[in-house]
Amino acid sequence: MDADAVETSNLNRQPLFGEADVGARKAAVAAARLRALRPDARIEPLDERFAAANAAALVRGVDVVIDGSDDFATKFLANDVAVAARKPLVHGGILRTTAQLLTVVPGPAGCLRCLFEDPPPPDAMPSNADAGVLGALAGFAGALMAAEALRLLAGERGAYVGRLLTFEARTARARLVMIRRREGCPACRTPAPVA
Ligand SMILES: [Zn+2]
Repeated sequence: MDADAVETSNLNRQPLFGEADVGARKAAVAAARLRALRPDARIEPLDERFAAANAAALVRGVDVVIDGSDDFATKFLANDVAVAARKPLVHGGILRTTAQLLTVVPGPAGCLRCLFEDPPPPDAMPSNADAGVLGALAGFAGALMAAEALRLLAGERGAYVGRLLTFEARTARARLVMIRRREGCPACRTPAPVA
């Protein structure tokens, strides 16, 4: 799901796209590339933004939510909707030379909002467009997120459930921080919807 067009500045870290795709819709190009790799896969590209109006319905229809969005408002929305729908969420993010992963599932482990409470104010954190990002880090984080999603789909416990992984690429240092459910977290105290 993506509501953007391919830009030249994406090409260092978004390997589904090439120079010839600049200006084309990302969802359609990505679907075509994935179909070329795996013709029998069923792929439903969505050329729309994940937003408050469609988030709950979209999350209800999937087994695992994978968040590769590039802004905090979308990341917190994905967290809140996944927690409320009791669907597993694989969260990932990159900025400059750091990647971050966390998996949120129903249970005692914490969610993104248990950890950070609220998104930072719009000007507090630079975006990838402003701060830059090590291109190879996107593929690295994406591969870890894909492996995590496959574990969850196979019925295994995720490796990053309640464990925030940060990987700093300049020093090759990885850190795992335990995230417990926080009393009073506004996302986690939302009652589960009636199925
Ligand atoms: Zn929470």
